[in-house]
Order: sequence, then structure tokens, then C-alpha cells
Amino acid sequence: MIPPGSGFPTDSASASTPVAVTAADVERLAAGAPSLAEVSGRASVCRACPRLVTWREEVAETKRASFAAETYWGRPVTGWGATQPKVLVLGLAPAAHGGNRTGRIFTGDRSGDWLFAALHRAGLATQPTSTTAYDGQELLHTRISLPVRCAPPANKPTPSERDACAPWLVAELRFVLPTVRAIVVLGAFGWGATLSCLRKLGVPMPTKAPAFGHGVELELPGLTVLGCFHVSQQNTFTGRLTEQMLDDVFRRATDLAGVD
Ligand code: SF4
Repeated sequence: MIPPGSGFPTDSASASTPVAVTAADVERLAAGAPSLAEVSGRASVCRACPRLVTWREEVAETKRASFAAETYWGRPVTGWGATQPKVLVLGLAPAAHGGNRTGRIFTGDRSGDWLFAALHRAGLATQPTSTTAYDGQELLHTRISLPVRCAPPANKPTPSERDACAPWLVAELRFVLPTVRAIVVLGAFGWGATLSCLRKLGVPMPTKAPAFGHGVELELPGLTVLGCFHVSQQNTFTGRLTEQMLDDVFRRATDLAGVD
């Protein structure tokens, strides 16, 4: 595991960053974070979900054979990219040997290969791949974040883990939302979590918001939420999500955001 204050590119914590060990701590520390960097720093040392802490650290210790020589990140993964984004992309949670290894969401895994190729085609990323935190990749007008920040077993967080983690996303959105014009949500889990966070931030919502679906749009004051199938291998290998479908969503997002 990479310790806080290591100077690793995705690390905005230090040895003195306060550590949340309960859901109530998360609420308090997220709400009180004075800056976006502090939200990221505090989230990145969080230990509020015992099952996920054990899992992320076990995976970081045992590793996949092909990554045996690497030091895994092994900590919560935070949002990254533009600090005043026009487009926000929200996924689900880090992959055990992707974000949990590299410290950056959608980095070093097959889902990321699909996502970054599409972001690059849309002019929202400087490179078509995202392999390590040192790869020089930059997001353009775009930020990527996630509703659950620790890798969950079988990619399935429990409802209580989702609820415990929500304040980190709410706190991050409080800083970045003013400039966001389009939110691309990858998958039904992220859709529910995103709408819930927006409600908590006081964004006016219809009484009955639409259910998640690929291509579904929810127009809100000043921004639009777009549904997109998740870039998981389950969807990309089976053809449920194609490159064209992904490109269409990001074209719509860049149009809405006024990004050329
Ligand atoms: S999932 Fe979220 S709340 Fe739970 S330990 Fe990880 S960062 Fe903390």
C-alpha cells in the first residue's frame, strides 16, 4: 500500500490528514473539508467500511501475478481531472487490480481502455489510454469521479457502503458542480447515487426522476445528466455497449457542455 504523503501523483493526503473510521466521521470530515484537494486527501485515507478496507488491502498485498513487482495503491481512489470541469463522468467503484493498483480511477484496466479511447476521440483526454498515474494523461474540461471509493469484492458494494461513501462525492460536487454542464453516468448504480447526491446538494429534481437507461437524459437547471451503459467487460465484450454508442453519448455531452 502506498502511504499518505508519499508524493505519489494521486496523493493529496499527508501523515496528518484526518482519518474517518465511521460513517459519521465521513459525514463530518467531508462536510468540513475546506477545499477540493482536502476532500480528496481526506477521502483517500478513509477507513469507514471494514469489509472494503480489508478487501482493498488484502488485494494490494496478495496482488495479481502479472503485477507482482508493483506496489499497489491499496487506498480509496478519488476524483481526478479538471477542477472546474464542464463534463463530469461518474462510474461505480475502483477495480481491484485497476484503480486499487494504480491509484487512479479507470487506470490500468480494460474498462479504462474503453473509456479513455472514447474520451480521446471526443477531445476530452490528451491520450487514448490510461495506464499508470505517471503516464502523462490529462483530462480536458473533464473530471472523473465515483460514488464508492474503495474496490468492492465482486464489484458489488453494499447499500450501507454506498451510503457511507456518499458524503465524499457530495463534498466533491459542492466544489466542481458550478461549472459542470453535462454529467455522464456509467451504469444504474452510479445513476441512483448521482441523483441522490444532487438532491442532497439541493439541485431541483422532478418528483419522479427517470430510471437509468442508455441514452436517457435528465435535464436539470443548468446541467443535463446522461445515462450510459458502464464500460465493464460484461458490456463491452458482449456488444451491449459499442464504441459507437459510447461516442454518441460523449458527443452529446460535449455539445451540451459547449466543448469543441
Ligand atoms: S468506500 Fe468510501 S466510505 Fe467506505 S471506506 Fe472506502 S472511502 Fe471510506
